[in-house]
Amino acid sequence: MVDKEFISEMEEKLLEIKENIIRQFMAESEDFKQMVDDMSIKDLVDVAADDIGKRQLEALNQHELKTLKLVESAISRIHNERYGRCLSCGTKIPEERLRAIPYALLCITCKSGEEKNNR
Ligand SMILES: [Zn+2]
Repeated sequence: MVDKEFISEMEEKLLEIKENIIRQFMAESEDFKQMVDDMSIKDLVDVAADDIGKRQLEALNQHELKTLKLVESAISRIHNERYGRCLSCGTKIPEERLRAIPYALLCITCKSGEEKNNR
């Protein structure tokens, strides 16, 4: 049983990371700024990474966009009550790892396996 307090703490962190990335996009891209100009920051947090990706805002930092997608997956896993479990093998991800990377979806074993395959 995963600690509810821990999860809500992680959810807050995830939303904070998402907000920061969106603010950074606004600073980096005039197109993005125009797209979101009429929205409040609360609406912005509801903007999905997929929508942003679809608009083909190439000026955006792809690494940040990828992180944003991971953050969204993690948030949806909180809602599915599957947060904190490895996406690949189902092992519980240690809290220390989640504290360091709240959007980690894989345990360390699967993560290092994935990195090997990408080489
Ligand atoms: Zn795993």
